[in-house]
Amino acid sequence: MSAYSLLCTLANEIALLESTAATLGWDQETYMPPKALEHRAQQMGYLGGKGHALFTLRKFRLLLDKAEGEELQPVQAANVREWRRLNNRSIRLSKRLVEEFSIASSRAKAAWVEARKNSDFAQFAPHLDKLVQLTRKKAEKWSYTTEPYDALLDEFEPGAQAVQISTLFDSLRPQLSALAKEAVVRSAGVPAHALEGDYPVHLQQQLNREVAESIGFDFEGGRIDTTTHPFCTKLGPHDQRLTTRYDPKDFTSSLFGILHEAGHGLYEQGLPPADYGLPSGTFVSLGIHESQSRLWENHVGRSRPFWERWLPRAKEIFPALTLSLEDFLRALHRAEFSFIRVEADEATYDLHILLRFLLERRMLNRELKIKDLPQAWNEQFEDLFGLTPPDNARGCLQDIHWSMGALGYFPTYTLGNLNAAQLYHAAQQVPAIAEACAAAEYVPLLGWLRHHIHSKGATLTSGELITAATGSPTDASWHLAHLRSRFLG
Ligand code: ZN
Repeated sequence: MSAYSLLCTLANEIALLESTAATLGWDQETYMPPKALEHRAQQMGYLGGKGHALFTLRKFRLLLDKAEGEELQPVQAANVREWRRLNNRSIRLSKRLVEEFSIASSRAKAAWVEARKNSDFAQFAPHLDKLVQLTRKKAEKWSYTTEPYDALLDEFEPGAQAVQISTLFDSLRPQLSALAKEAVVRSAGVPAHALEGDYPVHLQQQLNREVAESIGFDFEGGRIDTTTHPFCTKLGPHDQRLTTRYDPKDFTSSLFGILHEAGHGLYEQGLPPADYGLPSGTFVSLGIHESQSRLWENHVGRSRPFWERWLPRAKEIFPALTLSLEDFLRALHRAEFSFIRVEADEATYDLHILLRFLLERRMLNRELKIKDLPQAWNEQFEDLFGLTPPDNARGCLQDIHWSMGALGYFPTYTLGNLNAAQLYHAAQQVPAIAEACAAAEYVPLLGWLRHHIHSKGATLTSGELITAATGSPTDASWHLAHLRSRFLG
């Protein structure tokens, strides 16, 4: 047997462990009763530890050495390259550091839930301080050339560097700020609660399912369940789970949640199932993953043709819905400066990301003390949005990410927005796709994404993937043009 085949066997074993953990994780967020938590934490810790141990075995590295000398097909060679990159990162962290981080983050998450409830930063501060210290330690083990943030970005967006992200945001900031201000002014006449009505949950579920099916989500290989924090998770090559939450007063909240998560799910369903567990059967980066969710949520789901088709159907399902198409679209495209990122509209969303990037980079570079975070957050918020958060729950305590130790993650949301606009624009250059989208038919668009993005797995870097699909590397101009046409057009 070749070293490559033996690596595939080990990778398959790791994938079995990881997908078992994913199944337990999905259950924990959906149906698990509260008293099951302690045992579940032990199960997750056990499976995570086993997977890490297999991947960092000396045997795995020896096989990699051998496979690098074997004659391989291009996809096989790409898998070996990616395994080497991931393995180099994994072996640098000691078991002790991994365990310490896991314990610190589970404590921090619990403390964060309480701190947010009480809007009391002091309850969370020592935990965040510990996580930032441990994160800096991890970055040092991984090593970096310029600053710790680079090593962290590499986990979520391989190859990205803090200085590039910083340059990108520096150039985006004045344009985004001006655009957001203008969009907010233009939205002044649109009532804030125009979409409010009576939308029973079971009827929302019916519409959501019809919409998800119509954009190509395969319910024979996936399902939708209810959760408090919506997410999408893959439990196996033909098992894609979406989750959402329901607001009985506003059906668009769960529907856009489903369009977003189905965008993630379509990407996962489009990865080659035969390569499950191998890099060629795995998503390439979070910036690409998020481009898929944003494309379906914003470019498709908030477009006029989409609602020309779906508003009449929504009115059949919900007798309470009587808005005209024009009023409905105006309500959907209303911009406002608000405190909470996850509720922000497209016009203001990236400013929320910019703020988090600036602050986490300063925390990691020891330029900002943890105890000073609330004040720094509020000053930065005032600067970007012209508002001061009334409390820390609506300020620096609102996101779960830092409590999980996920520092370096936020920029992938804006990268996702940029990539989504660029990919959508490139796809629209194909006349058959543009015509179909204008009639709210999305089979050709999905086919294009399958071909250019999904089927490639992680055989190319995200930069190579975007360049191959669109003709140029990630470029902010398409996103800005999209926002201008939507909010100022
Ligand atoms: Zn997402």
